[in-house]
This record gives sequence, C-alpha cells and structure tokens, in this order.
Amino acid sequence: MTVLLLGSGGRECALAWKISQSPALRHLYIAPGNGGTGNYGENVNLSPLDFDAIAKFSDEKSIDMIVVGNEDPLVAGIYDYFQGREHAPLIVGPSKAGAALEGSKDFAKQFMVRHGIPTARYRSFTAETIAEGEKFLEELRPPYVLKADGLAAGKGVLIIDSLDEAKNSLREMLSGMFGKSSATVVIEEFLKGIECSVFVLTDGNGGYRILPVAKDYKRIGEGDTGPNTGGMGAVSPVAFADETFMKKVEERVIIPTVNGLISEGITYRGFIFLGLIEVNGEPMVIEYNVRMGDPETEVVMLRIASDLLPLLRAAAEGNLGTMPLSIDPRYATTVMVVSGGYPGSYPKGKTISGLDKVEDVIFFHAGTELHPDGTLATSGGRVIACSAYGKDIDEALANSFIGASGVTYEGKYFRRDIGADLKAIEQS
Ligand code: ATP
Repeated sequence: MTVLLLGSGGRECALAWKISQSPALRHLYIAPGNGGTGNYGENVNLSPLDFDAIAKFSDEKSIDMIVVGNEDPLVAGIYDYFQGREHAPLIVGPSKAGAALEGSKDFAKQFMVRHGIPTARYRSFTAETIAEGEKFLEELRPPYVLKADGLAAGKGVLIIDSLDEAKNSLREMLSGMFGKSSATVVIEEFLKGIECSVFVLTDGNGGYRILPVAKDYKRIGEGDTGPNTGGMGAVSPVAFADETFMKKVEERVIIPTVNGLISEGITYRGFIFLGLIEVNGEPMVIEYNVRMGDPETEVVMLRIASDLLPLLRAAAEGNLGTMPLSIDPRYATTVMVVSGGYPGSYPKGKTISGLDKVEDVIFFHAGTELHPDGTLATSGGRVIACSAYGKDIDEALANSFIGASGVTYEGKYFRRDIGADLKAIEQS
C-alpha cells in the first residue's frame, strides 16, 4: 500500500514508525512531517488542511490510504471531501459529522446523554442565556468546570474555585474569549478521580478493537502543577484500568458509542479517543477526541504487536471482521523533552544532539526540524518523546529517563515524575 500520513507531531512520528514496519507497505509519505518522520518515510511539504493539494498529490502518487493524525482536517471535513471522488483513497478517520464528537463539546455531551453514556451532569449556554448559566453555577459545588464548545487548542477548559470568578469567566467566554469556539459554553459538574485514555479503532459497521490503555501527564510541573501542556509523558498499561474496569468501559461506553454512531447514521471509520475518569471504580467520560492522543500514541504504538497497516485498512474499508490485534505485554513509557518556557513562549532553532547514544530508547520527534546541512534543531514546544519498553514500569521509565537525560539542547526541560502516581498505585 502507498500511505499518506497527515500531521507533524510526536504522534505522527510514532504512527510512521509503526506503519513503516509493515510488510504490506509500499511507500509512506508524511505531510508535512518533522525532523524525525523522514526516518520512516518521505516528508512532503503539504498542509493537512489544503484538501485540494492533498487530492492532487494523492492522484499523482496513487495514494491508497490517508491516515489523519490530528483533528483539524477531520473537523474541517477531509473524509467528506474525498467521498465520491474518482480513485479516492481510503481515509482513516470519521466524517465531519463524526468529528463533531471532538469539534463540539455540546454535541458530544448531547450524544452521551442520548446513548446513556456515563458523563458529568451538564448544561450549555449562549450569550442569550447568561443569566440561566449563572443560576446553574449557583446550583453546583466548586470547583466549577467551564468549557468552550469548539476547538481551542487544548486551552478551552477552565476549572475555577470561586463562584464569582466562574460567573466572570462565563461572561468573558461568551463574549469571545476563545472567539467563535466559546459562543456556546458547557458548564459541568466537577468529577474527582484519576484519568486515563482509552483508544478504539472502529470500522463504522459495529466492528472495533480496543487498543492499549494509557495515562498521560498534562501539567508542565512535577506533582501535576502549573499550566496545562499538550502532554509531558505517558505510560501504558495503566494499573487501575484492570479487567473489571475495562469491562465496564466496553459495555457502558465503547459499545453504546459505536452503536450510537451507527444508529444516528454517522460514518466513523477510525480512531475514537475516550478521555475517561475513574470515579469510585466507575468510568465516566470527560471527552471524546476523534484521533489518537499525543503523547499516548508514543506508548500505544509500542504495545501493538500486530501489523497495524492491515488493521487500519480494514477499519477504513468498514470491515475489521475477525482480524486479530495482539498486544505486547511489556510496559511502555514516554517522557517528553520540551523547550524552556513551554507552554508559554519559548525559543526555537536550538541545535539538538544526543539522539544517537542510547540503544533502548526510541526517540519520536515532535517539534524538530532537519536542516539541509544535517543539523537537527528545535521548532516547537514539545521536542522529543523518549519512548521505551520495560518488563515493568520501573524498567521502562528508567530507560525513558536515560533517553531524556541524554538529549541535549539549550533550555531543555522534562518532568522527572512521569508514572510516579501509577507506581505508587501498583505498590499499594
Ligand atoms: P484536551 O487538551 O485533553 O483535548 P480539552 O480542551 O478538549 O482537552 P477536556 O479534555 O474536556 O478539554 O478537559 C481538559 C481537562 O480538564 C481534562 O483532561 C480534565 O483533567 C479536566 N476536566 C474536564 N472536565 C472535567 C470534569 N467534569 N471534572 C474534573 N475535571 C475535568
């Protein structure tokens, strides 16, 4: 198969690494890719949002399948764009209607309510219903959770302790704090528990496979402090997501989601990301995403023992059938090395070294750029995901930390407590 993978992050580097191992692969293109994806395929300078250019490229190169890494092209309707076109490639990803599960939190909440999927109690408000929104806040207990309805680059969720501040933020959000994305605001009950990410590959016809469960670490500071980031590390498996918990997830969340999409006539052939929180042993859905997570992909790909490409193809064709998915029993961890200053402003263009020294670490590039003279430089906030296997969580983390310590560039930072909470749960 000839495959075009869209995106440029650590997630796409990990997908490229996995796809490139497939005997069924003829050629892999990554658009636009980064300084590391070229190790697994050919980078092409195309924007994932320029559908006309992608279609032209697909025709020229006889692309069989497009794997969409990030949400923006999905929410913008890349799946629908290619339907009905002559020689259209297969697309791994939902239709625009399906992508609304991520593109609109209000739609996602309504979907969950329609299908009896456990989630926090909520209501949605617009500028016309501010007064009702304030009243709803008064009914809830702090902290207050306010969410911009639309995409806001991971920054659209505010968790606020004081009622007055929450009311202020509601007003600010509805008057354009996140532009059109916060024209509707979802207010929901705060849930206390521990989070994990569950990934499902579905074929849109009732077939699905549950991929390894992962936990990510969103805050910049150790001990889960400071501002949110795209993700500072990840671990798989997750001790508390045991068989009993996962059975509940499958019965109460995955099956109703997969069947709910079908019953609503929504085409969805791709990854579903369930952001879950475990509250007293019960799974509750915090959010849907319509693609893989980053940095969770950097551990999930390590734990998929099967050839991924035939699975992706079968999902995109609508027929996962009985195709097996085997999981590597080892632990996988990733530690993200980021630019100093991230998630605030940070410098770019810092020369990177130290990636060739460590044997047991797979370095997935995120914000890196390969210059024509062969030097590698930073080009983003999250720079390198240091992924590793281990027979247990300690061994995997030790390898990831060796990798993270060896990467060198000016201003480098990483969290040294990735996985510490899961280790504590395992030891308790
Ligand atoms: P992401 O960057 O993960 O895509 P997002 O902007 O789409 O985030 P959510 O995932 O809905 O937004 O929320 C971000 C984070 O806020 C969650 O990972 C969780 O930690 C916290 N959060 C969201 N809703 C709740 C809730 N009801 N109770 C407690 N915490 C919550």
